[in-house]
Amino acid sequence: MPLKERDCKVLWHPFTQAKTAEPLIAIKRGYGSYLYDTDDKPYLDLISSWWVNLHGHVHPGIAKAIYAQSLTLEHVIFAGFTHEPAVQLCEKLQPLLPGFSKFFFSDNGSTAVEVALKMAYQYWHNQGVRKRTIFLSFDGGYHGDTFGAMSIGGKSGFHTLFSDLFFSVLTIPFPATWDGDEAIQNKEAYALEVLASHLSTSGDAIVALVLEPLIQGANGMQMCRPAFVEQVVHLVRNYGILVIFDEVMTGFGRTGTYFCFEQINIIPDFICLAKGLTGGFLPLALTVTTEKVYKVFWDDALNKSFAHGHSYTANPLGCAAAIASLDLLMEPSTMQSIQAIHDAHTKAIVNLPVKHRRVTGTIAAFDLENPQTFKRKCLEQGLLIRPLGNAVYLLPPYSTTVSELEKAYEKINNILKII
Ligand SMILES: *Cc1c(COP(=O)(O)O)cnc(C)c1O
Repeated sequence: MPLKERDCKVLWHPFTQAKTAEPLIAIKRGYGSYLYDTDDKPYLDLISSWWVNLHGHVHPGIAKAIYAQSLTLEHVIFAGFTHEPAVQLCEKLQPLLPGFSKFFFSDNGSTAVEVALKMAYQYWHNQGVRKRTIFLSFDGGYHGDTFGAMSIGGKSGFHTLFSDLFFSVLTIPFPATWDGDEAIQNKEAYALEVLASHLSTSGDAIVALVLEPLIQGANGMQMCRPAFVEQVVHLVRNYGILVIFDEVMTGFGRTGTYFCFEQINIIPDFICLAKGLTGGFLPLALTVTTEKVYKVFWDDALNKSFAHGHSYTANPLGCAAAIASLDLLMEPSTMQSIQAIHDAHTKAIVNLPVKHRRVTGTIAAFDLENPQTFKRKCLEQGLLIRPLGNAVYLLPPYSTTVSELEKAYEKINNILKII
């Protein structure tokens, strides 16, 4: 029986209505920027396999690091114990995250966000402040599928069904922009007006602001301007509100710098990392914070500690993969590839007959009325693309060459002409 049919008998896929979904594609192997199906048809992976892959599929450097680690130590409880890969990974990350000094491990982006939310809430509680119970986030923001992450992403449209169970969140309109957008000043002014009104009524009751800096990923790669984010952060900080940057998607070079916050001149209080952390090999996440936050938990009282953890916290194999991936990211040639991908996007996207062209770092996006036919044609022609609503985006691994991208854009242009 073909793999697809065996799958249907036993599997329940994420974000999928199995009854009406397009047929599954069974992938047998990956190599570099390509995935190969069971008939050995290649697909250029233009979405980095759900935004996690950085250096191409089955990268031998990462694979070997995982294997070597698995022969030394595969796991140890992380309460009361430590190990080399966990410490080494954080030591290596710290110079890239100036201003941050404490790293808390979990397993995925949603939990990295949950940890930040809980730490932020407890930050106030530990200091005897009980009135701060509301979070602030952006309309359209997506932060994961656990209940806290759903609450702050409540207006993303993904979680409406569960809204009765959410905690209190105030939201700000997201001033999405694109090339040649003439209304951006008005959109930003309106967002700042809404924010000012939230702050004047509830500023003292807000725990933290949570946002995806510069790019709302799941909302269709919607981009905003750095100066706007900077303004927002300055305004909320006047009220002492903590700032959480969800860099689960934007981290590790995706936006052209190692981390997105570097482009905004802001040191937030928390940064959430996951997706690219292990280069796409293993699930691992980090919530990174500052001495200012950590100090509030440092106490003789046990109940001031952060009582949160996961059984796979700081799994050594995940840490070994992350170290190997980070080493690759730090090679000068990787930043050159990131720049080359950015330049190739910028050059090619202007020629596409599409609306709302936008590029940040290695991410390019545009909007189509009905991208489903487009998606099918792309897959037929060996391009792995997965639109989000009306948005089509390209988010390739850094192993993708300029020539591979140029050929992909040529195919995309031809498909757009015939649909
Ligand atoms: C994917 C994503 C998450 C959730 O991460 P998971 O690993 O899927 O739980 C959170 N925030 C952002 C910005 C994301 O893109």
